[in-house]
Amino acid sequence: MRSFTYERAADARAAVAAASRDGAKFISGGTNLLDLMKLDIERPSHLVDISRLPLRGIEELPDGGLRIGAQAANSEVAADTAVRTRYPVLSEALVSGASGQLRNKASTGGNLLQRTRCPYFYDTAAGCNKRDPGSGCSAIGGFNRVHAVLGAGDSCIATHPSDMAVALAALDAEIELLTADQAVRRVAVTRFYRLPGDTPHIETVLGPGELITAVVLPPPPPGRQRYRKVRDRASYEFALVSVAAVVSADRGTIGEARVALGGVAHKPWRSAEAEAALTGRPATTDTYRAAAEAAMRDAVGRGHNDFKIDLARRTLCRTLAQVAGPAEEAG
Ligand SMILES: Cc1cc2nc3c(=O)[nH]c(=O)nc-3n(C[C@H](O)[C@H](O)[C@H](O)COP(=O)(O)OP(=O)(O)OC[C@H]3O[C@@H](n4cnc5c(N)ncnc54)[C@H](O)[C@@H]3O)c2cc1C
Ligand code: SF4
Repeated sequence: MRSFTYERAADARAAVAAASRDGAKFISGGTNLLDLMKLDIERPSHLVDISRLPLRGIEELPDGGLRIGAQAANSEVAADTAVRTRYPVLSEALVSGASGQLRNKASTGGNLLQRTRCPYFYDTAAGCNKRDPGSGCSAIGGFNRVHAVLGAGDSCIATHPSDMAVALAALDAEIELLTADQAVRRVAVTRFYRLPGDTPHIETVLGPGELITAVVLPPPPPGRQRYRKVRDRASYEFALVSVAAVVSADRGTIGEARVALGGVAHKPWRSAEAEAALTGRPATTDTYRAAAEAAMRDAVGRGHNDFKIDLARRTLCRTLAQVAGPAEEAG
């Protein structure tokens, strides 16, 4: 690991001011950043410790929404009564991620900004446009079983690993930011992440030195919610494919539908196509299949990951049957 200087920020404004220094980076739980520093992939010259900032609260908002502080641990958010009862898709997504110990340490802000799990990104001997722009993409033509099938390009086919971000995309959440000039702004989760294009190393719309201070949830949408994650083993594993679905149905007809997919793209993938194929349609297997077809219509496999396309379709159908079908299927 390279040498670096360290300071602990007293408040959010001081943190942002400290992060304006060249080579500075925030450190929160450190569960992703420290691994990347040890591997010489992240090379900050100055760390600004934000782990003790008073940004841990989870507050109910007057409009019926919820504000989750960026320092709230993944385990605290998952266990929060308001989250469990009104936003169960978020609680399920969080509990499906990492391990109990990691969730106790991992922060809301850090979870959103964790880096990809593409194995070539972690292998400094391999070409990787995300780690080292212009060096090529070893996953294209390489072993790409865990890689993206939607929205990818010729520069990078990595996926975003956060489960929480997928649920937040389905819930229309916004990310609250404190900018380098100390202004507050909000960005929808669905607009926060970028597709790789020619600049896969630029992953979000976050400006230099900007601090995530909170995640803001609007009032819960109508209907049942579910997060379903398919992975190589039952726990402590990233998603091959995941689905966050929130669907309301009345007397067998679907009302509002929100669908987001994880493990398939460079960002949490909200599927407007699936939602359009569900809205106003009968809650039947044929409708779920049509929605799954629509969601994956533009999917492109790269060889080893071809199986993800059908896996995503089937995972989506199963999840829709649980949220839109009769209550006995909801278990
Ligand atoms: C073995 C293992 C298994 C895992 N499995 C899963 C899984 O299945 N699903 C899943 O979703 N995740 C999984 N994770 C990832 C884990 O959830 C993340 O490592 C964690 O959420 C990161 O949070 P942190 O607070 O430790 O972030 P850090 O490591 O401290 O920071 C990560 C990045 O975010 C930046 N950052 C942190 N907070 C802020 C902020 N408030 N504002 C601006 N920038 C900020 C840091 O500068 C850094 O770049 C796994 C991790 C490990 C090690
Ligand atoms: S998929 Fe992206 S992260 Fe993986 S090797 Fe290619 S450029 Fe790097």
